[in-house]
Amino acid sequence: MKTIALLLILAVAGLAQSDVGFDEPWLAGKPGANISSSPGARLTSLVPAESLHSYNVRHYRVDIALPMTNESYVAHEALSIRSDEPSLSACTLHFVNLVCDSVKRDGAPLTFTTPAGVLAIMLDVPLPQNDSTVLDIFFHRESTAAEHGYHFAMPPYVTYAYGMTCTPPDTCRYWMPCYDAPSDKPERGVMLNLTVPDTFQTCANGLLDSVTTGPGTRTYWWNHPYPIATYLIVFSASRFATWQHNIPLQNGDTVPSIYFMWPSDSVVSTTTFNRIPDMMTYFSDSIRFGAYPFEKYGMVPGYYGFPWGGMENQTLTMIATRWLRNGDPMGMAHEMSHMWWGDMVTCVDFANVWLNEGFATWAECLYDGHMNGRVAFNSYIAGKARTYVSQHRSHDFPIYNPPPSGIYNTGIIYCKGSWVLRMLQFVEGDTAWENPGIFYQALRAYGDSFRYGTASTEDFQRINEQATGLDLDWFFNEWVYDRGYPRYTITWTKQPLGDSWLVNATLAQHNDTNSARLFHMPFPVRFNCAGESALAVFHPQDTLALDTFVLAAEPLSLTPDPDNWVLDSAHVTAGVEETMNDERGTINAATVVRGVLLLQVDSRQHSAYRTGLLDVSGRRVMQLVPGPNDVSRLSPGVYFVRQEGNHLSLKVVVGR
Ligand SMILES: [Zn+2]
Repeated sequence: MKTIALLLILAVAGLAQSDVGFDEPWLAGKPGANISSSPGARLTSLVPAESLHSYNVRHYRVDIALPMTNESYVAHEALSIRSDEPSLSACTLHFVNLVCDSVKRDGAPLTFTTPAGVLAIMLDVPLPQNDSTVLDIFFHRESTAAEHGYHFAMPPYVTYAYGMTCTPPDTCRYWMPCYDAPSDKPERGVMLNLTVPDTFQTCANGLLDSVTTGPGTRTYWWNHPYPIATYLIVFSASRFATWQHNIPLQNGDTVPSIYFMWPSDSVVSTTTFNRIPDMMTYFSDSIRFGAYPFEKYGMVPGYYGFPWGGMENQTLTMIATRWLRNGDPMGMAHEMSHMWWGDMVTCVDFANVWLNEGFATWAECLYDGHMNGRVAFNSYIAGKARTYVSQHRSHDFPIYNPPPSGIYNTGIIYCKGSWVLRMLQFVEGDTAWENPGIFYQALRAYGDSFRYGTASTEDFQRINEQATGLDLDWFFNEWVYDRGYPRYTITWTKQPLGDSWLVNATLAQHNDTNSARLFHMPFPVRFNCAGESALAVFHPQDTLALDTFVLAAEPLSLTPDPDNWVLDSAHVTAGVEETMNDERGTINAATVVRGVLLLQVDSRQHSAYRTGLLDVSGRRVMQLVPGPNDVSRLSPGVYFVRQEGNHLSLKVVVGR
């Protein structure tokens, strides 16, 4: 007698897992702060962005005088716009929480109104299509204004007076008039001229052009001549020490990475930021993301009012003080990678925010693999899967077009988003460890195509299809536009076939109701044989995929998805051991049964789970009992022995 023993291991992914919290809101509240709501994702589009879009912003120059003694400031904005319609008679900007004092064009006053959420400026002479003009907007912020966009605190709540902006996804409008949607980046960038008492310093996007002095004041002239989404414009003012890395790049350039921090944090910061050059070298490699897209990089802690772990303000990432003092290299890798994915190429709107956050979360995993090796990478990205699975049911939406409250959801947007890239890489066949191939070529083509602009999910799909020749509709439909993930049950049997071994295997999907019914995702398994192993891939076309593999050596066990390419909750199955015999002796599930099917199962298992014989459509045709079962009246064909609850099925062929 020869028996076939099936012992498949249940490997359900665990749930609870701590994760880098890029969107954990916390607010270092100071008593009496006028904070009207959480500073997290709010999407405060009081006016539809499209209705404002009869012009194109070319440049923002903002001159701000910060007293550094309260939350107020006085400012002037020189706004350069181009008309996108035949005769532009008004320019309407997002504008909240601020007071407009006057608007001028070439020195002549213009009339304006400030209905809820906007500043509407009437042009004295209409602007012809494609012509440009500059509007001078004089405005101020009251010290009593609600704390959005601009945050300020004084001792004793902070060590030094500290002011900063923090505006994702759309609160730039709370500190400067602007067209506050990523779809209109000023192509000539932004210039922030920050006047502070001469005991303070400032930092902002881009490079410091010069410092001028006035009576008791200094004005820092910051210039960033690159297109920039408004939510990535930043400045900060306090008592700062500063130091920098000068990082040589592969293309021969050197990029400065400039750090700002309170003097007392200067020493710890040298440890905190010590990996920045390596990160920059890694990501900017021509085989990965390609050349760094801006003139500088840098970091500044958000000492007051900063609600995130890190924020990828263009060329000047802001980080939580806990990152500064405790370090968080993966978090910092996440933020640096945004310089390519989020800042250089920005999601055209927040329906496509996974193009920012999924990419940056994936980049974290890459950098972890670079630092700590392949095993660590697998473990790190598995953690992202666990975070996603733990949030999947309570946040039941796809990564595309999340609800406004979900655009910065860690599990769905960040973690599943990172896995979508991981899986796309597998689908495109770019699977060699630390040897980037066609997937990265497509990624760089995407970067080149939308450099300094904006992109949508359709754009990203199209670039990948062009680069690979693949039709990726199914992939994006199932993973991006639909919800959830597959739950697989794998069952397999083996039998000798001459010098080889024949393996019959089934991959069943029993996805939950919050998921697509069927994922066509190719699914790799490894048969572990004595002395060697063999990789096989299922290509499911239905929820029950059958496949036959011929192996050179006897398979002893099966490892599902050994290199972590697929976002699936678990690989099945029960710790049940089954033995089946027919009247002539041993059968296994791949052999033909005639007349009587002898079922031998552990009686405790059998009492716990009904065992049945299913036809290929999944219909139960017989209840099986331990011992002999008469199958002589069944039509010849393929059936499955299935134990309920275990998702374990064995293929049998009933012969004539
Ligand atoms: Zn991010």
